[in-house]
Amino acid sequence: MHFPSSPFGAGGTTTVHDPATAQPLTTVGLADLAETDAAIERAHRAFPAWRAIAPAERARLLRAFSAQIDAHLDELAWLEVANAGHTIGNARWEAGNVRDVLMYYSAAPERHFGRQIPVPGGVDITFHEPLGVVGVIVPWNFPMPIAGWGFAPALAAGNTVVLKPAELTPLTAMRIGELALEAGIPEGVFTVIPGRGRVVGDRFVTHPLVRKVCFTGSTDVGKGIMRGCADQVKRVTLELGGKSANIVFADADLEKAAASAPGGAFDNAGQDCCARSRILVQESVYDRFLELLQPAVEGFRVAAPGEETAEMGPMVSAGQRDAVASFLDDADIAFAGSTVTGTGGYWLAPTVVLPRSLQDPVWTQEIFGPVVAVMPFRDEADAIAKANDTEYGLSGSIFTRDVGRALRVARGVDSGNLSVNSHSSVRYWTPFGGFKQSGLGRELGPDAPDSFSEVKNVFISND
Ligand code: NAD
Repeated sequence: MHFPSSPFGAGGTTTVHDPATAQPLTTVGLADLAETDAAIERAHRAFPAWRAIAPAERARLLRAFSAQIDAHLDELAWLEVANAGHTIGNARWEAGNVRDVLMYYSAAPERHFGRQIPVPGGVDITFHEPLGVVGVIVPWNFPMPIAGWGFAPALAAGNTVVLKPAELTPLTAMRIGELALEAGIPEGVFTVIPGRGRVVGDRFVTHPLVRKVCFTGSTDVGKGIMRGCADQVKRVTLELGGKSANIVFADADLEKAAASAPGGAFDNAGQDCCARSRILVQESVYDRFLELLQPAVEGFRVAAPGEETAEMGPMVSAGQRDAVASFLDDADIAFAGSTVTGTGGYWLAPTVVLPRSLQDPVWTQEIFGPVVAVMPFRDEADAIAKANDTEYGLSGSIFTRDVGRALRVARGVDSGNLSVNSHSSVRYWTPFGGFKQSGLGRELGPDAPDSFSEVKNVFISND
């Protein structure tokens, strides 16, 4: 397997591991403050030419970048299997998502522009001006797509980008940085900088030449980034944690709801900000639902992530596995699925727990692992109240055959992304983001280039 090499290293090195075996994969050079500053300054110097490039040419370069990802799709997918323990099926989808998001936003340079507004005394024109250098900070759980949701619309809107991958999973982003150069994206327009959050990530916040920070990660770090950005009134998008509800009504197709619930909760080993980690079941079908859920969980295929039929691989690190396991020490476990032993990797069985109260940590905290809590509810009002009884509001599902109920409950739940009779969260054509402490701003969808632009209004007098 070819590993990308880091042009940085003054900030030391980190060894990345295969989560399925705990074996070291490669060593990555990390940037220090001086290297980060130099990369930001390079991105700043590259900005005037990139913003001035003819829209059709910028579009062509983004399409070439997308084509280069497509040509290396399998390579990227296998790199993610090795570095993040993602199942090969998911990893192919993730690399394909970067390709598709680049292609989608490659239309923006030619279509994202201002308006001419009729006013007395002259002509009034709005321009969408790029911001300058945008800093994208990425977590370890979905290293490829989350990177793409930041850099693709930012580049399309005429910004240059510096991107910091997570310490645990930098390899695919580093490779995507190489592919950008191979596709003809000019030097300095898109730079991937492996490094520590408190060094490289924090510098994106404090460096005056970085005009916007696009952060995805934990709510606590996100709050610190927002505070730091306030000093310079720096633009910021935050995509943070979640504790989403999967609400199953008695009139739902219970077989379908139970069969899909493990995927909604345990996909990516539950290390998913959109995981439906709280299942709310109407009390009249609560016992029946658990009876249906048990075989679905037990049959959820936990296996080496490179196996084509694997539905769940290992967790990303020993630390993450141990943190999640500690929630189970004092929990009421209803049943669990299978796990893998003997590989030395960071495995944990998908587990269903029954919270003892609305204050039980398994019900209130974002566990970020393959643990789902199930609780009954009485009626629509009770379901909405329980779903909303959290500081988060990112995602969620509603299973019912009643269209009116689906609509009432969807309008009642304080969450940025809801699916009816489905666990789908992210479709790049539509906006994605959180209510409450799940974030600030929206990514993806047709309006994303707006969040990487300033509107400038110019009045031309006809006197
Ligand atoms: P994290 O907050 O620890 O780290 C995220 C990124 O921020 C990493 O690249 C890290 O190096 C960097 N960072 C850490 N400290 C920093 C600092 N002081 N200044 C600047 N950057 C810093 O999160 P994580 O553990 O990598 O990821 C898991 C979290 O991400 C979960 O809470 C999950 O819900 C959230 N997440 C949210 C979404 C979403 O779209 N809402 C998507 C994926 C993950």
